[in-house]
Amino acid sequence: MAYLGNSARTKEVLAKYNMSAKKKFGQNFLIDGNVLENIVEAAGVTDDDCVLEIGPGIGTLTQYLAEAAGRVVAVEIDKGLIPVLADTLSEYNNVTVINEDVLKVDIAAIADEYNGGRPMKVVANLPYYITTPIIMKLFESGAPIESITVMVQKEVADRMTEGPGSKDYGSLSLAVGFYAKAEPVCDVPPSSFIPQPNVGSAVVRLSKYDEPKVSVGDAGFMFEIIRTAFNQRRKTLSNALSNNPSIGVSRQQVQDALTKMGINDKARGEILTLEQFAGLSDILQRDSAMIN
Ligand code: SAM
Repeated sequence: MAYLGNSARTKEVLAKYNMSAKKKFGQNFLIDGNVLENIVEAAGVTDDDCVLEIGPGIGTLTQYLAEAAGRVVAVEIDKGLIPVLADTLSEYNNVTVINEDVLKVDIAAIADEYNGGRPMKVVANLPYYITTPIIMKLFESGAPIESITVMVQKEVADRMTEGPGSKDYGSLSLAVGFYAKAEPVCDVPPSSFIPQPNVGSAVVRLSKYDEPKVSVGDAGFMFEIIRTAFNQRRKTLSNALSNNPSIGVSRQQVQDALTKMGINDKARGEILTLEQFAGLSDILQRDSAMIN
């Protein structure tokens, strides 16, 4: 039985191994059984699934996952936690712990080895200091992944799920929206963790599309446009994009492209949808190719 989802048992395990949470690894251990159950339910984990957990910590969420899934592969960077995990997961024979940095590990190879190359579900209480690199790696590596259900900082959850016009809309919303349908699951207060983080948290579910949401000639070029647009959020698109030599277009070309698309030529990036960024990217890529 999963027994770690409370403060007393978590403190007991940490004391037994004379450990405390390491800030540099973003360690905030979940102690709220309801939240843990919500995460597993939102991820829709069944015994047909192979789950990839990132950062098992002392094994709290891992216990819940091991009871619901066919197999769990958990990647933990902190080697000090490996003996703890061997202890807290000893009664489960369907869990494999890999002591690696998730940003360096070959996720497709994990899917091959533990799930016959079939898509895995990623479920995690993420280390907040590297949330975006982890999410982008999961998408961009092309590894077989069906969905990503993760605890992140509340502000990051908002950025993943908001649309054009919102203050939280930006490159992360567009990058996530390109690859997946993003849905908020629940908000989680600091009191659900030991130690308490100094920010609010939220669980989001990202259900990956079979194909990216929009078709675009060069997705890398589109994301360069998107990054440039939101790095200089207060500028018009034509000013922001013409200032970036790696895009290689003039202010007039951006204005003409926007007009052609029926968008105000003084628009800022924050009002464009993903489809509109894809259209703009295709036009500017042709213009840029003509200059270079
Ligand atoms: N899953 C546990 C829980 O819910 O109580 C711990 C979550 S804690 C927020 C984040 C975990 O990610 C920690 O165990 C930390 O050591 C681990 N971690 C941090 N950076 C990592 C990385 N680059 N690769 C793998 N694990 C990492």
